[in-house]
Amino acid sequence: MRFVLDTSALFAMQDLPPGEAHATPGVIAELRKYDDPRVRFWEDLLKVSSPTPGAIDTVRRTALRTGDDARLSPTDIEVLALALDLRAELLTDDYSMQNTARAMGLKYRGVGMKGIKEVVRWKYRCTGCRKEWEENHPDCPICGSPLRSSRSRK
Ligand SMILES: [Zn+2]
Repeated sequence: MRFVLDTSALFAMQDLPPGEAHATPGVIAELRKYDDPRVRFWEDLLKVSSPTPGAIDTVRRTALRTGDDARLSPTDIEVLALALDLRAELLTDDYSMQNTARAMGLKYRGVGMKGIKEVVRWKYRCTGCRKEWEENHPDCPICGSPLRSSRSRK
């Protein structure tokens, strides 16, 4: 099985599902930015490639039609386009990405909501104000400092 993952899917999963896992350079850049301890592991397992300009164009046109264009980042568009190029299943928890994938007839699956039951949960602690978050954010919503993930067993 071949699939393409976005950053939200990677952060929601403890392990990659079996098969051929693809991501884009933008996803890798986001992972590095979050400085998550799992990044090194993922970088070894993910096949990284860029989508064709034609696929990016198709995604942009579709998102304009569905009204998702304002909610899709350049990385989101890149990930959708790569899934289109590879005819791979898209793994994402982002609603706008799922909606755009559906409009293009792409197979997609959410990870966080109905994924494999996890034993280990990740928490995200702010390196500035030390507040602990259940979900990951690009930066701390309170003070803007980077978050760091840590395991916490239920
Ligand atoms: Zn903070």
